[in-house]
Amino acid sequence: MKIISDYSLEQLSEILSGFGEPKFRARQIFRAVHQGKRFKDMTDLKISLRERLEKEFVDNPCEIIEELISKDGTRKYLFKLYDGNIIEGVLMKYKYGYTQCVSTQVGCRMGCAFCASTLGGLVRNLSQGEILGQVLEVNKRIGGNLDKRQVTNVVLMGSGEPFDNYDNVINFLKLISCSDGINISPRNISISTCGIVPKMFDIAKENLPINLTVSLHSPFDEKRKKIMPIAKAYSIKEVINACRNYFEITKRRVYFEYSLINGENDTKECADKLCELLRGFPCHVNLIKLNAVKETGLKSTGDKRAQEFMKILEDKGISVTIRRSMGADIEGACGQLRRKFLDKKD
Ligand code: SAH
Repeated sequence: MKIISDYSLEQLSEILSGFGEPKFRARQIFRAVHQGKRFKDMTDLKISLRERLEKEFVDNPCEIIEELISKDGTRKYLFKLYDGNIIEGVLMKYKYGYTQCVSTQVGCRMGCAFCASTLGGLVRNLSQGEILGQVLEVNKRIGGNLDKRQVTNVVLMGSGEPFDNYDNVINFLKLISCSDGINISPRNISISTCGIVPKMFDIAKENLPINLTVSLHSPFDEKRKKIMPIAKAYSIKEVINACRNYFEITKRRVYFEYSLINGENDTKECADKLCELLRGFPCHVNLIKLNAVKETGLKSTGDKRAQEFMKILEDKGISVTIRRSMGADIEGACGQLRRKFLDKKD
């Protein structure tokens, strides 16, 4: 099935000129799609064109089927895709606007030991229009339009590994930053990877000023292999080299994510080794207290130990914060809500 939000303005122009439509039509439709409009609501198009579009394209690739609002204002969304698959996303309110966390795949095949998204494996990749569709739907839901966006920042930190779906993610970045559409700058977009090294080199060459975030979770290869299977393919040294290359080419500092797991990666030895690894490198470390997923049996580090861990890094001059935990009362962790939904259905 063809999804209307998959197409760039240039591609739409080609399709519509094939329909015998005037030149301006493509931009008109592209803008309407980026406003989150359905074909039936594009009342400035003639009925025969609307009907033809309806027959040939999907106009709601990510339908919101559930919205949960946390006490802290965080919202969690369940989206139904055109083929019945379910994905989830989160919307966080900050002083400067809304940051939306989107999924890049249905499920995930990376197998990280602590993560709910990977429990059922990978179902399929999302297309660029499905990744974008999550933003278009939520922006519309909270009252945004193209002149006044509500969603200002996007993080690719929902279900899936963005670099396991590289081409669609790059197409998504081009679509979302198109000045005729929703026009969110790559500077306001963060891509989080478990550390697929060749793709980290590739993205450095794309000339797209995104924020690169790397999930490290341990400074020791042996330990990292136990919690992140991708570490068997790429050593920490290779990951850090790819980060250095990213910085050298883009001049953008790299972010590291480090989820603190009780007794696994939260010792002083780990903190010291992490300092040694990152010394002198322009980066920022986000410490995250593990969001415990019942199936994994892993627990979060307590507040006191998390503070101690942070202090060790700070004392070595490393830029570090403990990420505020948001939406814990609404299954905030990656993949938890979708699992709950699928469990209920079975
Ligand atoms: N696949 C990508 C992006 C998705 S996960 C990646 O690995 O980076 C986004 C971040 O959340 C990653 O750092 C991931 O390791 C972390 N994460 C996943 N499940 C978590 C959980 N239950 N608690 C804390 N962090 C988690």
